[in-house]
Amino acid sequence: MANVTLKNVTKQFDDVVAVNEANLEIRDKEFLVLVGPSGCGKSTTLRMVAGLEEITSGEVEIGDKVVNDVPPKDRDIAMVFQNYALYPHMNVYDNMAFGLKLRKFPKKEIRQRVEEAAEILGIENLLERKPKQLSGGQRQRVALGRAIVREPKVFLMDEPLSNLDAKLRVQMRAELSKLHDRLQTTVIYVTHDQTEAMTMGDRIVVLKDGFIQQVDDPLTLYNEPVNMFVAGFIGSPAMNFLNCELKEEGSGLYLDGAESFKIKITEDIIEETPEIKDYIGKEVVFGIRPEDLHDASIKSDIEIIDENTIHAEVEVVEPMGSEIYLYLAHNDHSFIGRVDAESTADVGDNIKIGVDRSKMHVFDKE
Ligand code: ADP
Repeated sequence: MANVTLKNVTKQFDDVVAVNEANLEIRDKEFLVLVGPSGCGKSTTLRMVAGLEEITSGEVEIGDKVVNDVPPKDRDIAMVFQNYALYPHMNVYDNMAFGLKLRKFPKKEIRQRVEEAAEILGIENLLERKPKQLSGGQRQRVALGRAIVREPKVFLMDEPLSNLDAKLRVQMRAELSKLHDRLQTTVIYVTHDQTEAMTMGDRIVVLKDGFIQQVDDPLTLYNEPVNMFVAGFIGSPAMNFLNCELKEEGSGLYLDGAESFKIKITEDIIEETPEIKDYIGKEVVFGIRPEDLHDASIKSDIEIIDENTIHAEVEVVEPMGSEIYLYLAHNDHSFIGRVDAESTADVGDNIKIGVDRSKMHVFDKE
């Protein structure tokens, strides 16, 4: 068991800086997820921790020991990749035992560890099968088993579920979380899928273009994104961004979206972020998640007043069963509302949308 620390870690490939001065402290037993779009530097970060990629500058520590010059096999880590790379001619038992045999573990201990891992993963009855006789989910379990038997200090996982179909992915997500609870080991997990990150991570690192944007637990990331990138990346459907102007009228601050809305900013928000006043008279971006919008014609938790209302025309209606997605537009604004299933809004209707002002965000126009 171990903590992992990155100190000013940079990786440069010719003219591409894949990871830029990354500082990160991964706690012992933590499930930490690296998330971001393709090419943002997730795999490179993981590969530097694994020792598969040389570090251009900075230091990586595993369990308080600098490992920059320690070869991968001596780092006490185990990696699980998206292509499980099982040996096709070996059965499940031998696939799982292989790494231990190489390390000259006694036969008895190998058997004990493989059987224990197989039991944890529920694959005890598959030990004699060859990889081609297994389903995708079973193969993924064998790949995990191969990592587990090594009893490493740290598990490194690079998109381990991305080759599985959607349903299995959801199931394996929960299984991996349970596995982490049971093994009590540090896990660093790479994914481009924000849902995977949100459901599995104790903490999440959001990366963009080689730079760490924010490191926080899932709820903090969702509720308090530090910038538009994080706000737009976390959550589904994504947060709406509406261009407008910040105006002061009387004693109040308003987000003025011309004829579409004039929303009063609550005193709470002004108290929490007094620097918002620096933007009076400037263009800003009003951020609101689809789930924080309501069809004003039906009863909801928020009281509908002029100061929290957006006017819009309904362009598309997507009934989802328990709720309805409304694709809305007015002037230059277009946005999505995730409203109550009771909504009877129809395509072409001009409707009023209520904003839960306790959930609104104001961003610098980038
Ligand atoms: P991610 O895992 O987030 O998709 P990567 O860490 O694989 O991103 O890549 C980050 C950046 O580094 C990308 O621009 C990628 O093209 C570049 N890169 C990764 N590996 C190499 C390499 N071996 N040679 C040159 N550029 C690379």
